[in-house]
Amino acid sequence: MIKFHINQSENANYIYQQIYERLKGFILEHKITAGDKLPSKRQLANELGVSINSVATAYDQLLAEGYIYTIERKGYFVETVGHFINVPSLKEYKLPKYLKETSNHKKGWLSFSHIATDSSRFPFNEWMKSQQKAIKEHKREFAEITHPQGPFTVRRAISDMIALTRGVTCEPEQIVIGSGTQPLVHQLMAMQSSNIKIAVENPGYSRIFQLLKTLNLNVLPIELDKEGIDIGELKRTKPDFLFVTPSHQFPTGAIMPISRRVELLSWATMKEDRYIIEDDYDSEFKYGTDNIPSLQSLDQNRRVIYVGTFSKTLLPSFRISYMVLPPKLLEKYKYHYSDWIQGSNSLHLYTLHDFIQRGEYARHIKRMNQHYNKKRKHLINALRLKFQGNIHIKDVPAGLHFLATFNAEKSYEKINEKAQEEKLEIYTIKRFMLEGEVKRSSNIQLVIGFASIKQEDIAEAVDRLYRVVY
Ligand SMILES: *Cc1c(COP(=O)(O)O)cnc(C)c1O
Repeated sequence: MIKFHINQSENANYIYQQIYERLKGFILEHKITAGDKLPSKRQLANELGVSINSVATAYDQLLAEGYIYTIERKGYFVETVGHFINVPSLKEYKLPKYLKETSNHKKGWLSFSHIATDSSRFPFNEWMKSQQKAIKEHKREFAEITHPQGPFTVRRAISDMIALTRGVTCEPEQIVIGSGTQPLVHQLMAMQSSNIKIAVENPGYSRIFQLLKTLNLNVLPIELDKEGIDIGELKRTKPDFLFVTPSHQFPTGAIMPISRRVELLSWATMKEDRYIIEDDYDSEFKYGTDNIPSLQSLDQNRRVIYVGTFSKTLLPSFRISYMVLPPKLLEKYKYHYSDWIQGSNSLHLYTLHDFIQRGEYARHIKRMNQHYNKKRKHLINALRLKFQGNIHIKDVPAGLHFLATFNAEKSYEKINEKAQEEKLEIYTIKRFMLEGEVKRSSNIQLVIGFASIKQEDIAEAVDRLYRVVY
């Protein structure tokens, strides 16, 4: 039997743990071999000068993990444990530098991100009130997993609300809540056959494009014309699904006119099981016009899958989004996902439910519309003042971002590099060009989000942007 010592000093590991570690090591290194008898608990305790209890605990742990076995009235024996295979090249593998992460707190940065929002304006007190109420009323539900599509009452509140605000006609049964647009689209695509074709707008939402590519689907980026996605190209390529942002095209900001909407809906009916996914991500924000009804509200033939999100109206980190499935797809969904576990946090969902029911959600959106409208005007003025004749802004009074074109010659790589230096988060159009080269001309296009930047930081952010562009 191999001898060892126990470190009895104050800051040493527990005694049982030391015994366990040493014996485990001996067994794995084959210093004691299969079938060897271990000393009795009393014997080892005496040898080490420790209590029998410590040895017993160590033996129990080794027994539980399968290092040793016991034969009644005979004692403890070493199990047969094979040899590890050591491949030196794998053993020496360390994370390369480019995979190393640092805490991503971006101190001193300013952001024109299109996806971030401003948490300083979020009514946390009202949200907490709703949360307290949710906890009081739904304790039992928190101990269980919910319906795969999310709690029915929450779906009912959402369906009532979008009927009113977006003209979406649906039953709560048709709503699927999820932790984001990506996971919802993922679910939707995973239940289709693998040879389907899906068309996306180009430029478009790259996070969905990437997802579809990763799923190995046949993705067709389709150019835009003045009215939106090129219908001729759709008729030629005949995709099964189309992902569009009709209320506020991402990233160009264009609002799809009724003529193109009618064309699209008619086109959808021309092939069996053809659907349009309507990504209605920021339609709650309109400055000066009324809300533009959703594409789903015009659909007579149930070919539109409406996708909505609370990421832009509440906070993107809450991760609450939903889709509305046409009846035929709902049937398919239920067939595939009856065992699915809902991915959104129930506490947040019931909190949201109360927040909506008490009218806080509508009030918050109203306040944010005023706030964003002011900020947007302020930013556009500041940009025009700074860049003078060298900026053209596609000024669509909607959403949380706009497209700006600058007279400047610089590669997009250089722009990104410079932005890094200036500590300015900014997205160039290149990121959203899903295929093909960006047409090189002597201008630069940037997608400028204004939700996260603070009013008082606008001047500084515009100065940084100037240094980035010129
Ligand atoms: C913010 C955003 C969404 C919403 O994404 P979630 O995953 O629901 O947070 C969808 N589409 C576009 C273009 C967006 O900018």
